[in-house]
Amino acid sequence: MDFLDNAIDKAKEVMDIACKKTNEVVNTGKQKFDVASLQNKRSKDFEKLGEIYYNLIKDTEIGDEDTKILVDEINRKNAKISEIKQELNNAKCKRICPACGAAIDENAVFCQVCGIKLTFEE
Ligand SMILES: [Zn+2]
Repeated sequence: MDFLDNAIDKAKEVMDIACKKTNEVVNTGKQKFDVASLQNKRSKDFEKLGEIYYNLIKDTEIGDEDTKILVDEINRKNAKISEIKQELNNAKCKRICPACGAAIDENAVFCQVCGIKLTFEE
């Protein structure tokens, strides 16, 4: 009988260890998720802080060489974004010539490139 009791105790012990390990895995999974989530939120805070700082210094001489390079980079990207948005806006007012594929004014009667007479779709 002692042998059986010992075997049952041993089995319980193994089960406890297995359960503990499972809980550890679950906990580390949650911790890893929490870390990733906090890092993501912190990145957004850094981004906001960067924007605030950029707006403070963009028209000044404040900042070291690295900061000035970054401000220039942002200015260049802002200019490019405005340019592309303008192009997108212009594209909205255009349609494509069915004959030559050129972008033409929405209300043009003739294609400005190939001269074909344009019809208006409903
Ligand atoms: Zn055309």
